[in-house]
Amino acid sequence: MEEYRQGVFWIKSDGEEWLSTENMVPGMQAYKEKLLLKKGIEYRLWDPFRSKLAAAIFNGLEIFPFTYGSSVLYLGASTGTTISHISDIAGQKGVVFGVENASRVARDFLERVASHRKNIIPVIQDAKLPDCYFAVFRTVDVVYVDVAQPDQTDIAIANCRMYLKRGGYLFLVVKVRSINAVKSHRSVIDGEIKKLSEFEVMQEIDLSPYDADHALVISRYLGASQSS
Ligand code: SAM
Repeated sequence: MEEYRQGVFWIKSDGEEWLSTENMVPGMQAYKEKLLLKKGIEYRLWDPFRSKLAAAIFNGLEIFPFTYGSSVLYLGASTGTTISHISDIAGQKGVVFGVENASRVARDFLERVASHRKNIIPVIQDAKLPDCYFAVFRTVDVVYVDVAQPDQTDIAIANCRMYLKRGGYLFLVVKVRSINAVKSHRSVIDGEIKKLSEFEVMQEIDLSPYDADHALVISRYLGASQSS
């Protein structure tokens, strides 16, 4: 077993290496993921085909600001797959605000994930209305955006202006085909990166073969006053 980053591990099992996080709620699964016990500690396998953050780690993610005690604003929590692993990493001292506006998936998110994890604060709200998040009581170290909307970069910027610390990180999942169905992959991603004038872009990762037509863009927030 090898630690990739604090709280994230590569575990050898059945002749293969698996990515995993230490389960904050032993015995509980978030999405029927496999649980593994090593030296009395339970780990949850982190599936790159189910989670774009895991896919990014498999594809060479270098910047990993998620750690014990991290504060994260996560837009597009869905049923809670990725957020559950971020919750494992952030631990008892961390806080993860999970924003989701679709009632059907929000119910699963609340029942299967948020209600079992004390460090997740669900925000059932439209990510386009960040000033209506009454549960978000502080600025955060990381804003993670995976809302799969054509205007997702604008949504991300508005949320960062309100909640991201200067010097904090934006993890932006770009779903190329939901932004433009005809333009090339490269020109769609470049178009989104151009909008990030208040950020320093640090890394861009293609998420194929785990998620075709998706990229993850990681950038550091310079602050609204730096914008051109
Ligand atoms: N990030 C999730 C994961 O890895 O487990 C998957 C996210 S899924 C691709 C996109 C989610 O964003 C959907 O659950 C959708 O309902 C949500 N979403 C889309 N537009 C939204 C908005 N304006 N406000 C809040 N959530 C939104």
